[in-house]
This record gives sequence, C-alpha cells and structure tokens, in this order.
Amino acid sequence: MRGRRREATFAETLDAVRSSPRTPAPEPVRGRIDASGHLVDPDGREHRRTAHDVSPAAALAAAAGGARVVWDPCGCGGSCGTTWFWFDAEEVASLVASGAPRVRRRATRLTHLSIWADGDGHVLVLAVDDVRWGDLLA
Ligand SMILES: [Zn+2]
Repeated sequence: MRGRRREATFAETLDAVRSSPRTPAPEPVRGRIDASGHLVDPDGREHRRTAHDVSPAAALAAAAGGARVVWDPCGCGGSCGTTWFWFDAEEVASLVASGAPRVRRRATRLTHLSIWADGDGHVLVLAVDDVRWGDLLA
C-alpha cells in the first residue's frame, strides 16, 4: 500500500535505539561551589573567595582589571544545576563600559557580589541572584 507507513513496533524502536551510536549529551557550561567552598569554573579551576559582598564599584574595578564575570541567577551555589552565565572578555568589556552593576536586595538576601581568585592570576567577579549589569545581567 502506498502512502501509508506502518508505525514502528516497540521492539523495533528499541532495536534502533540500541544499535545507534551513543552520542554524549553536551555538558552544560555551569559553575558550582564545591563542598570545600571553592568556586569551580568550567575549566575545572578552583577559586577561593577573596572578598565577600563587595560594592558595585569594587566589582566594576575588578572587571576593569581583567576579572572574568560570572552570574549565578539562582544563588544556591550551583547545587540545583541552574546554568551559570560566564561572560567572555568582550562581554566583560561591555559590562565595564556600562558602568557599575546594580545590586537589588530581595527578601532572600542572596543577592550580592563577591570576588574570587585561583592563586594563578585568574580573578572572578561572582554576581548572585538579582544583580543588574549592562545588557547582560538583568
Ligand atoms: Zn540553584
């Protein structure tokens, strides 16, 4: 019969799935704070917090000085699997050009900025929760 396609049976579907090569799911780029309190970046580098709850001006100064900026929109430290936003040098330049971030306090009190460093010259500005900064954090 033309024009009619038979639905695959469950067994056939199972065979197709089993015989297809396994393609690894893309690993989402995220960050997390591990059990030791280190901030681990997507490259696996561990950063220690060097300053907690810094001012927007201090965050701006760090970014202007070459720090990478990362935004945790949730605030749980990454355990829930929420994707963190890692901004590249070009994006950080646009954040710096837009001026200091705005930290909006909410009832949860999670919202803050902090500075992290890995002992190898890599500095991070971590923006948590309700931080607005340029066009990228909103
Ligand atoms: Zn979370």
